[in-house]
Amino acid sequence: MPQGISDRIRAVMRPSAAALEPYDPAFSQVRINLSANENTYGMPPEVKAAVDRGLCDAVTNRYPQPLSNELRSELARWHGVGEDHVIVGNGGDELLFNLFLAFGGRDHVLVSCEPTFSVYRLYAELVETTVVDVPRNPDTFECDADALAEAASRASIVVVTSPNNPTGNLFPIEQTRRLCEACPGIVLLDEAYMEFAPDGSSAEPLLAEYDNLAVLHTLSKAFCLAGGRIGYVLASPSVVNALAAVRQPYSVNVFSQAAGLAAVKNRKTFGPTIASIASERDRLLDELATMEDLGVTVWPSAANFLLVRMPDAHVVRNRLRDEFSILVRDFSSAPGLRDCLRITVGMPDENDALLDALRQLLKGE
Ligand SMILES: *Cc1c(COP(=O)(O)O)cnc(C)c1O
Repeated sequence: MPQGISDRIRAVMRPSAAALEPYDPAFSQVRINLSANENTYGMPPEVKAAVDRGLCDAVTNRYPQPLSNELRSELARWHGVGEDHVIVGNGGDELLFNLFLAFGGRDHVLVSCEPTFSVYRLYAELVETTVVDVPRNPDTFECDADALAEAASRASIVVVTSPNNPTGNLFPIEQTRRLCEACPGIVLLDEAYMEFAPDGSSAEPLLAEYDNLAVLHTLSKAFCLAGGRIGYVLASPSVVNALAAVRQPYSVNVFSQAAGLAAVKNRKTFGPTIASIASERDRLLDELATMEDLGVTVWPSAANFLLVRMPDAHVVRNRLRDEFSILVRDFSSAPGLRDCLRITVGMPDENDALLDALRQLLKGE
């Protein structure tokens, strides 16, 4: 329930809003922040310079282009689709919100696979959409393909995250195909972390075949623009127009459009840090796997984070923050994630600091 609202004011709220559990990233000021899956390298200097030039030249006395035309065409060129297959949003979150405004609501059904990104359920519940959870395998976190296809046959929206947040595993393309066939509604593949996955993992090649498929991307993770708030969806023109119909006309401001354009034009420059994050992820996975005798379980990941289970995870998380000034994300009391923490892959020295601190805490030194 949202806090700090008097009974009198709460009584006049939309009931679905009064019942919400608002999203809380649980940030605090720390030396090493590995809690929000950002790219901790920061922008390569030459991209930063291009972003700065774009921000300086931004015209502010006029409204922004509603559909971020220049950024939209650059994204379309990149992904090899027409501009009418692209819609830009104020972060991926806005586009998810728009998805529920356009396709959710009373008598509409969301199918998703928990544990996953909590925002889907939040937005679904806000607009009174029925949520049908097809739980993942508790040990591998894989989706149950048969149960999912069955549930999808009655869904207005199916959302599958690939790689999944917070479990890191990919969703097979053939299963996406099956969902698109089975579902009378929209199938959204949330690919916020796809840049960190092996080539060929994206569902994008299916876009040409299915007009009910949508693929969500963001510049927040791999492309260092979490603060700039730019996300986009690739989909058929019908789905794009449906999302456009419900959006706030000027949600993407001129600064965000300019920064996003500079980042996308210079996207290849991010290649080395993305590759380094992927190799650090694999190193961190190996190191954490050697801590099995300390009670650590770690799952493989195609994203820029790892899900790790350990004894007394909640206490470990607080001690990492308070004694080492390292922040990771606590999922220890989330359903299906008992004693789990999500650790964002940082730069090598950040990852070393994390490993040292974890070893100390778990050995009880
Ligand atoms: C981070 C994230 C997004 C989008 O983030 P924005 O910053 O709003 O673009 C979408 N889906 C998942 C699973 C994420 O982790």
